[in-house]
Amino acid sequence: MDNNALTEIREAVSRLCATFPPEYWRETDRERRYPAEFVRALTEAGYLSCLIPEEYGGSGLGLTAAAAILEEIQASGANGAACHAQMYIMGTLLRHGSPAQKLKYLPAIAAGRLRLQAFGVTEPTAGTDTTSIRTVAVRRGDKYLVNGQKVWTSRAEHSDLMLLLARTTPREQVKKRTEGMSVFLVDMKAALGRGLSIRPIRTMINHATTEVFLEDLEVPAENLIGEEGKGFRYILDGMNAERILIGAECIGDARWFIARATQYARERSVFGRPIGQNQGVQFPIARAYMASEAAALMVARAAALYESGAPAGKEANMAKQLAAEASWQAADMCLQTHGGYGFAEEYDIERKFRETRLYQIAPISTNLVLSYLAEHVLGLPRSY
Ligand SMILES: Cc1cc2nc3c(=O)[nH]c(=O)nc-3n(C[C@H](O)[C@H](O)[C@H](O)COP(=O)(O)OP(=O)(O)OC[C@H]3O[C@@H](n4cnc5c(N)ncnc54)[C@H](O)[C@@H]3O)c2cc1C
Repeated sequence: MDNNALTEIREAVSRLCATFPPEYWRETDRERRYPAEFVRALTEAGYLSCLIPEEYGGSGLGLTAAAAILEEIQASGANGAACHAQMYIMGTLLRHGSPAQKLKYLPAIAAGRLRLQAFGVTEPTAGTDTTSIRTVAVRRGDKYLVNGQKVWTSRAEHSDLMLLLARTTPREQVKKRTEGMSVFLVDMKAALGRGLSIRPIRTMINHATTEVFLEDLEVPAENLIGEEGKGFRYILDGMNAERILIGAECIGDARWFIARATQYARERSVFGRPIGQNQGVQFPIARAYMASEAAALMVARAAALYESGAPAGKEANMAKQLAAEASWQAADMCLQTHGGYGFAEEYDIERKFRETRLYQIAPISTNLVLSYLAEHVLGLPRSY
């Protein structure tokens, strides 16, 4: 995609976001209410189906365009976390689903009739150690019987389908612990109250995250994606896309914080001159800017690599981490630049500050990115 087309997308997203003023985000945050109107507007404009190929009704754009969309959403002050997963969770279905599954679901997802934005991987006891998950799916004729529990399953109450990772062969019976797990598409609306229950978790941000309980849940065998036992591999390549897109969101956040801090530093006058005239105020803004520009280059590189089909694990992890650190640096700087006013809800800084902090924990925490680089890129001994 050429730069002009990308600029047009960015401008259009920015115009759409401008119709949702800061008061909207303050109110939804205060009430921990799902921003359904915003999600509907993005869906209707076709942005959430940008990665779905045209043959299935999407716009068939690449990850660079998706990253630009999410970056603009965050840079406008909005919170794309309410719906970003609708863009990328379907990637597992697209890459590993059967032709029949793709035909059944992708056009409906592209049209916004079906929401596939819940991703059930994390569990209370396994934590980051995904291969220790305890949710099991046992084949019974033409169905699987699923039992277990997921935690931090975001948007579960606002999704029609969930991509679920479960063990189909016990860990002791597989050669490699990454084997023996499978992914399923769960029809959540049909399953609710019939083996599936959802409990919201109230958090420091408005994220619609939940606990999901699975008790003798019947999932038709035709909802297994790809081959049984290969689920871990299937979700891994989707995770790279997720990390790159989250990186882009962090760049958008950093841009928002830097713009707000710069404006305030110009306008706020103390001791008879703008605070931004002091190097003690200027330099942290300049540093945050530098860090975010450097991280943006890594996000762009990772997105281009992913789009070309080349391995992008290293770059996806570095992009997410550098961007999350840059957005946090910018958040802290922005709060400091605003002095006491940064704490006032009406300035929106405290909200964005809370929201952007998430990305050093999810979708993967800082230490795990560092361990990945140390072990798999630098060849150091595995530490865990
Ligand atoms: C708001 C929110 C939304 C989320 N949404 C989803 C979702 O939709 N779907 C989903 O599946 N998950 C989701 N998650 C889960 C998220 O991916 C996990 O929280 C994250 O991967 C960390 O796992 P954990 O919380 O179990 O931390 P743990 O694994 O318990 O780790 C705790 C801390 O210990 C560190 N640590 C652990 N092991 C090591 C080690 N070997 N070396 C060094 N440090 C280590 C970690 O880095 C971390 O800082 C979400 C989380 C949050 C908070």
